[in-house]
Formats: sequence, structure tokens, C-alpha cells
Amino acid sequence: MVERKKGMMFVLSSPSGAGKTTLTKKIAKNNQNFSISISHTTRQPRPNEVNGKDYYFVNQDEFGLLIKDSSFFEYAKIFNNYYGTSKDSVLKFLSEGKDVLFDIDWQGTQQLKAVKGLSLVTFFILPPNIKVLKNRLLNRHGGKKNLIEERMNKFSEEVSHWKEYNYVVVNDDLEECYKNIIEIIMSEKKGVRKTQDTEKIKNKISELTQ
Ligand code: ADP
Ligand code: 5GP
Repeated sequence: MVERKKGMMFVLSSPSGAGKTTLTKKIAKNNQNFSISISHTTRQPRPNEVNGKDYYFVNQDEFGLLIKDSSFFEYAKIFNNYYGTSKDSVLKFLSEGKDVLFDIDWQGTQQLKAVKGLSLVTFFILPPNIKVLKNRLLNRHGGKKNLIEERMNKFSEEVSHWKEYNYVVVNDDLEECYKNIIEIIMSEKKGVRKTQDTEKIKNKISELTQ
């Protein structure tokens, strides 16, 4: 019997609003072999979100039980809510030879990297500039100032983790950013790590955080 090749794991993290969810969904939609790891969260669904598709929406008690049962590869508290990646679906996807996409934060990425036997390729997504990021958040949150402020306040802390990632990609034009990520993924699937211009990345980071 021919052994089926195990899938690979690709993580996308970013400061809130930079576009990782949009990119993750686009990759999965356009490439049949990719499945998105659907996280559990205690946060309330946004108007367009569907339980079991965007997240598994659970209450604090349910989340606590999942922690107790060691159901998560990783979990974290973000903006006063809990988020976690359950082991079952990820392992099933991988055993079916599927590639798995993760839209998780830096805390989750650190924890996943520490799990023995998992091999990850990690992307950190940046916005082109702060003004664009604010506008994206304004659009997504219908102008709710407190939610936008909360996310902007976390920006520098989140960006400070960029060095923990294999690749840093700027999401200005969506198509261009998507193509860039796909190119990297295809290269990684062939076992080739692409090099990036670290100086250029450092300049972008200091431009964004000054
Ligand atoms: P994140 O998951 O990183 O918090 P989202 O993917 O939810 O961010 O994107 C935030 C908002 O910005 C969404 O309304 C999304 O449609 C929009 N968006 C994402 N990428 C782009 C882009 N390249 N150009 C314009 N709008 C974008
Ligand atoms: P949002 O509430 O905007 O959907 O997500 C808030 C943050 O939680 C984002 O940074 C997102 O990547 C992160 N996130 C979503 N699911 C998980 C998860 O399972 N684990 C971790 N650690 N972070 C997650």
C-alpha cells in the first residue's frame, strides 16, 4: 500500500485587522488541498459569522472543560476572550494528507511550535501602514471606537513578535499578497525555504511602530 503523504501546517498571524483571516480563507477557497483549523472561542459571533464555520462558539464553562480534557494543542486569552486550537480536527486533516491553515496569534504560534512532531511554516502579516489598518478595523467593526482602540493599543506588542516567524509579508494589495504567500507555500512544499530581505522587513517594522 502506498503511504499517503502527511499534510503540512501553515500559520498566519498578524496584528488585528491586517488581513490574516481574509488571506486564510482565500488560500483555502482557491486551493482544494487546504483546510482551515476552526478554533474554539468564548467571544460573541460577529453578525456574518457562522458557528462551526468561522469558529466553534462556546461559553467559558465549555472552554474550561476542553482545557481540562487536554483537547487543545494551544489556547490563549486575547482581548478578554479565550481562543483555542483543538487537536482532533487538525490531526484528522493531517492524516488525510490535507494541508492545514491556522489563523492564530503569537501566543498560539509559540505553543504550536513547542509541540513535538508538528512541523510548521509561519507567516506574520503586516498592514501597509497604520492609517490603512485603522480603516480596515473601522470597516470591520462598524466604527465601534472602543473595539478599534483596544486593537490599535495592542499593535506594537503584537508586531514585536515578528522575528518568531519564518516569513513576514505585507498585505497591501490583497491579490499580490496572496500570490506572494502561495509562492512561498509551493516552495515550502518542495522543501525549499525562501530567503527574505531582512533589512527591508526591519525598515517596515520601524516605520509602522515609530
Ligand atoms: P485579521 O483577521 O487580521 O484581523 P481581517 O482578515 O478580518 O483581519 O481583515 C480586516 C478587514 O480588512 C476586513 O474587513 C477585510 O475585508 C479587509 N481587508 C483584508 N485585507 C485587505 C486588503 N488587502 N485590502 C483591503 N481590505 C482588506
Ligand atoms: P478575532 O476575534 O478577530 O477573530 O481574533 C482575535 C485574535 O485571535 C486573532 O489574532 C486570531 O488570529 C486569534 N485566534 C483565533 N483563533 C485562535 C486560536 O485558536 N488560538 C490562538 N492562540 N489565537 C487565535
